[in-house]
Amino acid sequence: MEFELIELIKSRCGAQRDDVWLGIGDDAAVLAMPLGQQLAVSTDTLVAGVHFPQNAKVYDIGWKALAVNLSDLAAMGAVPAWATLALTLPAADRAWVEQFADGFGALAREYKLALVGGDTTQGPLAITVTVHGFIPPDAALLRSGARVGDMICVTGTLGDAAGGLACVTGREELGAALALPQESRETLLARLNRPAPRVAAGLVLRGRAHACIDVSDGLLADLGHICAASGVGAEIAAESLPASPALLALFDDERRRALQLAGGDDYELCFTAPDSASSLLADLARSGCGATRIGRIVSGSGVRVRDVHGAEIALPRRGWEHFA
Ligand code: ADP
Ligand code: MG
Repeated sequence: MEFELIELIKSRCGAQRDDVWLGIGDDAAVLAMPLGQQLAVSTDTLVAGVHFPQNAKVYDIGWKALAVNLSDLAAMGAVPAWATLALTLPAADRAWVEQFADGFGALAREYKLALVGGDTTQGPLAITVTVHGFIPPDAALLRSGARVGDMICVTGTLGDAAGGLACVTGREELGAALALPQESRETLLARLNRPAPRVAAGLVLRGRAHACIDVSDGLLADLGHICAASGVGAEIAAESLPASPALLALFDDERRRALQLAGGDDYELCFTAPDSASSLLADLARSGCGATRIGRIVSGSGVRVRDVHGAEIALPRRGWEHFA
């Protein structure tokens, strides 16, 4: 049965690539690196009940398992190439694996990514994906490159995924918002369940951004990582945080700001770049994913958020931390 599942995964989960000399089926995959490129490697695990609800759509679990990993490659400025998949399943459920493979495969084919191996075991549902991508030497976007005076920017919009989560788990907090359009809630839920990794934006940022990170745990937490790694501080203008129409429709100002600052799972890119790089924002918009300037790198440490009058805003709980 395990081998039937592996056959099923093999047939549905990825794209064909010429650089896969030997894929699924032997003791190891054998892969050809493009000459002169460096390999970027990243792993993320999704555990049922922690990273997705027990009743999540299986297609979405497959999609998100790959999306969160591609987001890490995007944040490095890497071009995705290969992945491995370690699946721990409570039972050999063929229908489950089919739906999972459809979600995983849809995103894999979009990025011409080949699934080259993995492992299939029995136990409580957990999914570990490892992705591999290519970067020219010295072009990787690091957390440690931010400089005083850099502008701080973020792609897309913030707080949508956390807003979607609030729609399914925290109904009482929404209050009057529940009377508002179902459509807005569905838009936010789609952001939570099928995040779009910002791979194209990462490539535009190569050689132009000083520092970059993907926003998985919330802006404050992730920008905090850039500050710590770079030995700098950050000042954010609260009113400049980009919000989607759906988020604006469903939440009052205060609640929306908390979601934008501390909500996780958006998978946007937060980056810093020299102030003179104004054409960068235009190039990002042309690449299909616009970015917004939200603040500035300063000397010191930590992230401060200011309101329109320049007064410092007391911060909400920081992002998601395991073992917290
Ligand atoms: P081994 O005993 O050598 O680890 P396995 O029986 O675990 O071999 O796997 C057989 C082949 O199927 C290997 O090429 C492995 O990489 C691949 N494989 C197993 N599980 C998965 C999976 N969930 N996704 C992709 N490939 C898998
Ligand atoms: Mg094995």
